Amino acid sequence: MGAQAESLATTPVPLPTYDDVVAASERLAGIAHRTPVLTSRTFDARTGAQAFFKAESLQRSGAFKFRGAYNAIAKLDPEAKRRGVVTFSSGNHAQAIAYAGRLQGVPTVIVMPQDAPAMKMAATKGYGGEVVTYDRYKEDREAIGRRLAAERGLTLIPPYDHADVIAGQGTAAKELFEEVGPLDILLVCLGGGGLLAGCALAAKALSPECKVIGVEPEAGNDGQRSLRSGAIVRIPIPTSIADGALTPALGERNFGIIRSSVADIVTVSDAQLVETLRFFVERMKIVVEPTGCLSAAAALHGAVPCSGKRVGIVISGGNVDPKALAGFLAA
Ligand SMILES: *Cc1c(COP(=O)(O)O)cnc(C)c1O
Repeated sequence: MGAQAESLATTPVPLPTYDDVVAASERLAGIAHRTPVLTSRTFDARTGAQAFFKAESLQRSGAFKFRGAYNAIAKLDPEAKRRGVVTFSSGNHAQAIAYAGRLQGVPTVIVMPQDAPAMKMAATKGYGGEVVTYDRYKEDREAIGRRLAAERGLTLIPPYDHADVIAGQGTAAKELFEEVGPLDILLVCLGGGGLLAGCALAAKALSPECKVIGVEPEAGNDGQRSLRSGAIVRIPIPTSIADGALTPALGERNFGIIRSSVADIVTVSDAQLVETLRFFVERMKIVVEPTGCLSAAAALHGAVPCSGKRVGIVISGGNVDPKALAGFLAA
């Protein structure tokens, strides 16, 4: 028993590959939107780059998370589908799981803090998810998720540290490379690293010379510190307007891919995110949530020198409360 536990702890988890991204894209064909690739002369003039924006803000449920959630549910066997899935998230993954579950006739249970934004809770319920609330100051959401999974025979699908979730997220970059060809730089935001890891798999296969660079909020640079130190760094939950990137640490699978396939991780400030959000509204006429502004902000504010380069920029999501959006634009 002791020896077995030890060997389990030291066995690295299997990582998804580009073949898994291709398989995910077949599952998503005709179901996920093939989101548009946008360009902006103003952005190019300001940065000196030729930029291609993959607009996942226009994805179903408003963020790339639909890709991974749908893929992970689609891969379950019929019995597991009948019993249903559970996840813990207050954000876009919750909505994506509820929506992807409804489309596939799979019951979903979402563990959310009882003080989660009303709009997000309503959207999750609107998609047919059963919301189970908890007290975020007293209870552990992962433990609740695991208990529900055990009691009700549900399959737990976490937001990023999951091979099928990573493979699904990678289809966003696969589509981008298929549409615009090889790139010099690909900028991708990160929280737990599902999107970044999946996109890095696609870049390696479709544009091997492309430098994949992660972008995270200045206040929560655990990913940068992890990549630079070679081991996962865990930090207290950071404070930033980029609420989709407020994770304490990279996932284990995510880090396994990121450490070998991502060139660097840079950071941007909240003030730079607000400026970028305003740029998207004023110049490109698109609504992007603060987290979705991370990758473009890195190019716009010089965290990544892009002059003379062909640059891919993944806009990760567009779910921002209209009142909050108005506040950012007025600031
Ligand atoms: C979840 C999310 C992220 C971060 O994704 P990870 O896979 O956790 O790195 C970034 N932007 C948006 C809009 C998200 O919903």
